[in-house]
Amino acid sequence: MDSTFRRIPDIPLQDLIDGLSLGNRAFLSRAITLVESKRDDDKIVSAELIDKVLKPDAKSLRIGITGVPGVGKSTFIEAFGRMLTGMGKKVAVLSIDPSSSRTKGSILGDKTRMEELSKDPNAYIRPSASGSSLGGVASSTRETIILCEAAGFDVIIIETVGVGQSETVVKDMVDYFLLLMLAGGGDELQGIKRGIMEMADHILINKADGNNLKAAKQAKEEYKNAIHLFPPNDANWTVPVGLCSATERTGIEEAWEEIQKYQQQTTGNGWFAKNRKRQLLKWFHERIHAKLEMDFYSRKDIKEKIKEREELISSQQISVRKAVDELFN
Ligand code: GDP
Repeated sequence: MDSTFRRIPDIPLQDLIDGLSLGNRAFLSRAITLVESKRDDDKIVSAELIDKVLKPDAKSLRIGITGVPGVGKSTFIEAFGRMLTGMGKKVAVLSIDPSSSRTKGSILGDKTRMEELSKDPNAYIRPSASGSSLGGVASSTRETIILCEAAGFDVIIIETVGVGQSETVVKDMVDYFLLLMLAGGGDELQGIKRGIMEMADHILINKADGNNLKAAKQAKEEYKNAIHLFPPNDANWTVPVGLCSATERTGIEEAWEEIQKYQQQTTGNGWFAKNRKRQLLKWFHERIHAKLEMDFYSRKDIKEKIKEREELISSQQISVRKAVDELFN
């Protein structure tokens, strides 16, 4: 059965909160399962849990990582995460996966790919939440971020699995958005849309090693020129273009230096806090929309009325406008 529908074993809320604040990973997993639950009774407890653990000024850093399948996201996160835990940081890795077709097998695959990190006592890897809507998955991921921060994780990495729709969602929940690219693929081939490049705070060309190094250096110059043509971003940040090799573990420290520079600069100019506030308000309004929609469509009388009007509209006996007005009257 899908884990999101599984009721977690009863545990007093205060015990869960205490376990979380001690950084206990088993309690963190239980808390995440609770916020992902679709059961009404779990939802009430989750709301209370989130409310109690919310830290107004969480000192964490939330980093989004995206790139086409095969670019090296897992390998990069393994290297990057290990470097951070080596510095004494606690790192959580979450993923957003909009496709429902993903099997349990590939989730396990991810775990074995980040083999060192998954065994690291200062790291926590959680496979993506499943759900019918991207909005729902996004919302539970945001709450999972809050739980990880409550458990003392200082760097939260959100990986997008699959390309296309999830990047915007991730961009709206992170402080920094890192785009991994490959040399020699061409933008079209890599399926990276210009819009995604414009969202990036950092472009990193991976697999800059062996025979590929020359092409990677060339790609770096091309991307540098390309981003010059983009409008300046709101954070007043010059997007760095760098090289790395996740397997050779080169360029990883330099990437972290850039990220710290960003954090310093945007904390200084107020953008960091402003961006988090903006994201919270956006989330609030998205949840209002989602709730209105769900409440509306789940009403029995509305379901019947919609069905009736669908027939009237199909046979052109009523206009769409009139049908909608009638539903709300
Ligand atoms: P993901 O699908 O983006 O998570 O990509 P993976 O991390 O699974 O990597 C895909 C493949 O590329 C694997 O076979 C990796 O070993 C390989 N790979 C990842 N990073 C590098 C790198 O820096 N250099 C080289 N040569 N291969 C890499």
